[in-house]
Amino acid sequence: MSREDAAADAATDADEATRPRRVGVFGGTFDPVHWGHLWLAEAAREACRLDEVRLVPAASPPHKQGAVITQPRHRLQMLELATAGLPMFTIDRREIGREGPSFTVDTLGELADELSHELNPNGSREPAAELFFLMGADSLADLPTWREPGRIAELATIVAVNRGDQSPAIPAACAHLADRIELVTMPACGLSATDLRQRARAGRSLLFRTPRPVELYIREHELYRGTSDG
Ligand code: ATP
Repeated sequence: MSREDAAADAATDADEATRPRRVGVFGGTFDPVHWGHLWLAEAAREACRLDEVRLVPAASPPHKQGAVITQPRHRLQMLELATAGLPMFTIDRREIGREGPSFTVDTLGELADELSHELNPNGSREPAAELFFLMGADSLADLPTWREPGRIAELATIVAVNRGDQSPAIPAACAHLADRIELVTMPACGLSATDLRQRARAGRSLLFRTPRPVELYIREHELYRGTSDG
């Protein structure tokens, strides 16, 4: 490595050490968590150089009102098992404790407020942390129908993750938010929690669909045996 390259690397390292902490926020029902969720979180972490990804299980997702959702304690325990030993993935319980439906704008607003109390490593008055809101790119077209989409985009950079087979593009409905959206591509992974629930109900294998400890937990606690879609 040349002296110039080494100096450039050292400067980059110094910038990395003093830049605001980059915190990803990834909400979902996680009923149960599966490799697709974890791949998405990791793809965003790597592409956006996130220091942390907070997995935020929803108590009562606004788009799933009326659906039977597994008790929060089981969904939380499965997330714990899936991320054990991975300190860059943390679990944020705030939506579980909140009354009524969980709105992204409320969660991001609370997080921004909490993180604004952190001290900036470079001693400046700049924000100490920056929020990145992770979502599947397929949901991006729905974003304008969410509560306060403009405020969401102010609070966080929106990281829309394409699943490889989809063309990476910002839908026309989100054109006005384009400068706050980052597109990331991950390999297509056809898993869904619905599929895992249906398999569990039918007594079929979950091997390689979710981390092994989650699979064993589902079996031990006989989850998804009684509900109609799993
Ligand atoms: P369900 O089948 O119950 O609707 P789900 O598997 O889609 O559940 P959710 O918890 O509803 O999981 O989704 C949380 C987020 O995970 C969403 O942004 C969704 O786009 C993303 N996601 C779900 N499955 C995958 C997958 N296979 N690959 C990448 N992202 C996924």
